[in-house]
Amino acid sequence: MLKFVPLPAPLVISQEKAISKTVTSEPLPCRRCLKDGKRGDEMLLLSYDPFIATSPYSGTSPIFVHKKCDQYQSNGSVPEQQFKRTLSIRAYDQNHMMVDFCVIKGDLLQERAEEFLSQTDVAYLHIHYAGPGCFAVRVDRAVV
Ligand SMILES: [Zn+2]
Repeated sequence: MLKFVPLPAPLVISQEKAISKTVTSEPLPCRRCLKDGKRGDEMLLLSYDPFIATSPYSGTSPIFVHKKCDQYQSNGSVPEQQFKRTLSIRAYDQNHMMVDFCVIKGDLLQERAEEFLSQTDVAYLHIHYAGPGCFAVRVDRAVV
């Protein structure tokens, strides 16, 4: 079973560096509630590094978050936000080194994520939006 973890590293919102945006036409994917911002929603655009430890793969990418929303609570299913987009899956080991990767359509995320996490050397996955390359969500093995 999968656990979707939005914003695995603490989100620091710097008033100087965050850009306010009002959604006008294209839906903007919020990384906190994992729902797309709809027309008129107030969102922030900021840089975010999802790594919780030192890794040569760490680095910031641009993300959107609603100015106000609740953190997503994983139920084990692929969130709609990822289901409908083209994604890059990056598999990391316990030392935060990339051990595998692939690009898929979001409707295959559940299957491919379960395959990656069935490998003993894979500790967790980072999912990115394949086009812009920005971080989407982390996927862990759910503890049941
Ligand atoms: Zn949100």
